[in-house]
Amino acid sequence: MNNEKIVVERDAFAQCAEYVKSKNWTNVLLIADEHTKKAAGDELAEHLTGAGIKVNLCMIDPDKNGDVKADEVSLVQALLAIDQGVDSLLAVGAGTIHDITRFCSDKTGIPFVSIPTAPSVDGFTSVGAPLVVRGTKTTFKAVSPAALFADIEVLTNAPPQMIAAGFGDMTAKFTSLADWRFSHLTAGEPYSEEAAAITERALWQCVDHVEQIAAKEEEGIRILMNALIESGKAMLLFGQSHPASGAEHHLSHFWEMDFIKKGRPQILHGAKVAAATVLIAAVYKQYWPEIEKAGVTTVKIPDADFIAGLLERVGAPVSPAELHIDQDLVAASLHHAHKLRDRHTMLRFLNEQHIEIKKEALR
Ligand SMILES: [Zn+2]
Repeated sequence: MNNEKIVVERDAFAQCAEYVKSKNWTNVLLIADEHTKKAAGDELAEHLTGAGIKVNLCMIDPDKNGDVKADEVSLVQALLAIDQGVDSLLAVGAGTIHDITRFCSDKTGIPFVSIPTAPSVDGFTSVGAPLVVRGTKTTFKAVSPAALFADIEVLTNAPPQMIAAGFGDMTAKFTSLADWRFSHLTAGEPYSEEAAAITERALWQCVDHVEQIAAKEEEGIRILMNALIESGKAMLLFGQSHPASGAEHHLSHFWEMDFIKKGRPQILHGAKVAAATVLIAAVYKQYWPEIEKAGVTTVKIPDADFIAGLLERVGAPVSPAELHIDQDLVAASLHHAHKLRDRHTMLRFLNEQHIEIKKEALR
């Protein structure tokens, strides 16, 4: 599936209005929350109205913790807002608003356009929608947006922790790419040199420009957003999330399920993934001789301290403790998170070899 247009510019909203007109859409539903409406929705609506397009608004309400969640309640709220005659959906927000909209777009057949309000995840153009149904988070296959328009000023003014989270989702590629290569070499999982190369290039763009990203310079934010989009593109190209998601994402998923079960407020995806990446890198490095014994010598991972140093520069968390994830949950995740996904990783390998993951590996 191809995105017709991807724009990361200062005049993205004007270009979005032009695009909507060029598609002959005249009746759009803008899906947002209280914060993203203010950050981008209002200005975008002005551009659309100015172009003679009817703009309807669906504001997704937060839950009792103040979190906007992609759960049954939000999904029905969005579906009910799709009145007769609505010909396009605009997702104005970060990952969650996109997942809600992506689901609605798939179920109704009405195309959607992505309007990211923060460079916080690499999933804007994803076909997968992680949804919480009956308290369990599962990724459902949905659709990729027809186009993406990101206003660089909106992204730059996003909450700093969301920018840090996006950087975290990119540094996760250090371990996800290594896990993917390992799984290909030892377990015959499908692989694409092209998707791996795109992802690796995007990762190093972020690493090489960490100072500009940390300083929230316009150029740094543009580089981060483009890297997240490129990582998303690699997943679309490959057809699965292997390039961007390895054991660090499985740990994050395990923690998130625990938080949902306990009714705790949610933590940004990229923040969990950042802390998990440092942890996984430390574990892998500690057991590197065992990993090499599996016959793999072409997989590389930098030291956990190097990754932690980058994350600290942008203000991202580097340990589960910083996120109030206790040692018991961390230990449980290291032993069981690999069972959440039917995919080979070095973490699965260590567990299947009954190699005991020692306490020293935990930061
Ligand atoms: Zn991710």
